[in-house]
Amino acid sequence: MLQVVWFKRDLRLEDHAALCAAAIRDRILPLVIVEPDYWRQPDVSARQWNFWRGCIADLGEAIAAKGGQLCVRVGDAVETLAAIRAVHGPFVLRAHEETGNAWTFERDKAVRRWCKAEGIAFEESRQFGVWRRRRVNRDRWAQGWDRMMAMPAQPAPPLLMWERGESNPLPDAAALGLADDGLQVAPIWGRAEALATLHSFLHERGEHYTSEMSSPVSGEAACSRLSWHLAYGSLSIREAYQAAQARYRELPLSEKAWRQSLRSFIARLHWHCHFIQKLESEPEAEYRPMARLYEGLRPRSADAVKLQAWGEGRTGYPFIDAAMRYLNATGWINFRMRAMLMSFASYDLWLPWQESGRALARKFIDYEPGIHWPQCQMQAGETGINTIRIYSPVKQGYDQDPQGNFIRRWVPELASVPDAYLHEPWKLDAETRAQLYPDYPDRIVDHAAAAKAAKDAIYALRRKPEARAEAKAVVQKHGSRKRTADRKRAGAKADQLKLAF
Ligand SMILES: Cc1cc2nc3c(=O)[nH]c(=O)nc-3n(C[C@H](O)[C@H](O)[C@H](O)COP(=O)(O)OP(=O)(O)OC[C@H]3O[C@@H](n4cnc5c(N)ncnc54)[C@H](O)[C@@H]3O)c2cc1C
Repeated sequence: MLQVVWFKRDLRLEDHAALCAAAIRDRILPLVIVEPDYWRQPDVSARQWNFWRGCIADLGEAIAAKGGQLCVRVGDAVETLAAIRAVHGPFVLRAHEETGNAWTFERDKAVRRWCKAEGIAFEESRQFGVWRRRRVNRDRWAQGWDRMMAMPAQPAPPLLMWERGESNPLPDAAALGLADDGLQVAPIWGRAEALATLHSFLHERGEHYTSEMSSPVSGEAACSRLSWHLAYGSLSIREAYQAAQARYRELPLSEKAWRQSLRSFIARLHWHCHFIQKLESEPEAEYRPMARLYEGLRPRSADAVKLQAWGEGRTGYPFIDAAMRYLNATGWINFRMRAMLMSFASYDLWLPWQESGRALARKFIDYEPGIHWPQCQMQAGETGINTIRIYSPVKQGYDQDPQGNFIRRWVPELASVPDAYLHEPWKLDAETRAQLYPDYPDRIVDHAAAAKAAKDAIYALRRKPEARAEAKAVVQKHGSRKRTADRKRAGAKADQLKLAF
C-alpha cells in the first residue's frame, strides 16, 4: 500500500526512521504540509518560517536527486490528507513523533481521529530520546536515552520508489501573514550546512567550548551552533551524538580541553531530550507552572511598557539591551544570555513567563517548544524544584564582556561613555548622562530592589507546607535521576562519557 511520509521537523533523508520503514514496504509519497493556522500562532515568526522554508527546499532537492518529487501542500492537515486519499487511494501515514506546541498537539490529535475514522494506519517513529506520555518512566529514562543514541544512524535508503503528487509552491512569509521581524543576519540552512557546522565544531571550533560558551562574544564561534539544525531536523540528534563520541574516542588523553568540551557537549545533547520529555509528559507546561502553587504568583498579563522595553533592548541595562538586540538581529544567542534575559524579564520586571516566553520564542530561529517552555518556567523559578537563579545584569556584563566590546557594538548610543561607566552608566551624574547619551533610557528598575522583592515572594511560597509535597511530585514526574545514573555509570568502562545534567 502507498506510504505517505509526512515530513515535519525532520527535514532530511538520513537517519529517518519513518522513511526507512516506508522504503521497505511500497511506493512513497513524501509530503510537507504548510499549515497557515500554525503560522498564525503567537509563538512563531517569519524568521522561523524562512529557515524552515529553506530546509524544505533543500529536502526537495535531495528527493529530486533520488528521482522523486517532494509534495508540498498548503492547508489544513486533515483536509490535505483527505484530498490525497481522494486522488491516491488508501495509504499508510508515517511520521516522526513530534513534541510541538499546544497547536501541533491538538492538530496531531485531530489527524489521529481522522485516520481512525477513515481506517488509515498512522505509524509514528521516535526521533529523539523522548517517550510518549504513557510510556515514560523517569527512573529508566537515562538508560533508554543511551540505548536510543547507540542504535546505528541509518543512511538514506538507497532504493526508493516514489509516488508523485500535486504540489503547491512554497509561500513566502508575507503570504502566510508573517511580518518582517528585522532579522539582519541570514542563517544558512540545509543538510550540507548542518554537516559542515557539526564538522567544524568537532574538529576546529569546539576545543574551548566549555570555557567560552557563556560569553556572547566567544560563544558565537565556540558553541556548536547546531540548535536550528536539530530543531528542523536537517541533522538528527543521534548523528550529532555519534559523531561527538567518535571524535572523543580518537582524541589522545593529552587533549584535555577537547575532551572536556566534548563531554559538556554530549551532556547538552542529553539535556535536549531531557527537557523535551518534560513538555511531552506535561503539555500544559507551555502555559501552566509545573508546580501549581505558583499559579497567580505573577500577574496574568504583562505590563506592556516593560515587555516592550525588554523586547526592544531598551531597559537601560547596557548588557541586557546588547544581548536582546543581538538576538533580535541574528535569531540566536547562547544559553547563558537566554537565561539572563529570561531572568531579567521574570524577576526584575516581574513579567509572566508565558508572555515573555512567547516573545522570546518568536525571536529564536531554533524555537523548540519542548526545550523552550520548561526552560522558561525554570528560569522564572516556577518549577518548584530548581534553585532560584537571579542573574545580575551588571555582574554578567563584567564577567562575559569585560572590555565592553559587545555593549559598544550593540548599544551604539553609549559610544561616548567612558569604559569605567559602560556597564553602569547610571553612576554618572544626571547632567553628564544627558550629554553623553541623550537617546538611551534610564534604568527601568533598580536590580537589587527588584531581585529582593522577587526572592521574598518566591521563598514565601516555597516555605508553605504544601510546597514540599508538590516539589516531590514534580521531581517524580520530571526530575533528572542524575545521581542514580552516575552511580551506575561509576563502574562502567573508564573511557565511557559521564553525563552531568
Ligand atoms: C529561556 C531559554 C529558552 C531556550 N529555548 C530554546 C529553544 O527554543 N530551542 C533550543 O534549541 N534551545 C533553547 N534553549 C537552550 C539553549 O540555550 C540552546 O539550545 C543553545 O543556546 C543553542 O545553541 P547551540 O546549538 O550552539 O548550543 P550548544 O551549547 O552547542 O548545545 C548543543 C545542543 O544541545 C541542546 N542544548 C544546549 N543547551 C541546552 C539546555 N540548556 N537545555 C536543553 N537543551 C540544550 C541544544 O539542542 C543545542 O543545540 C533555551 C534556553 C533558555 C534559557
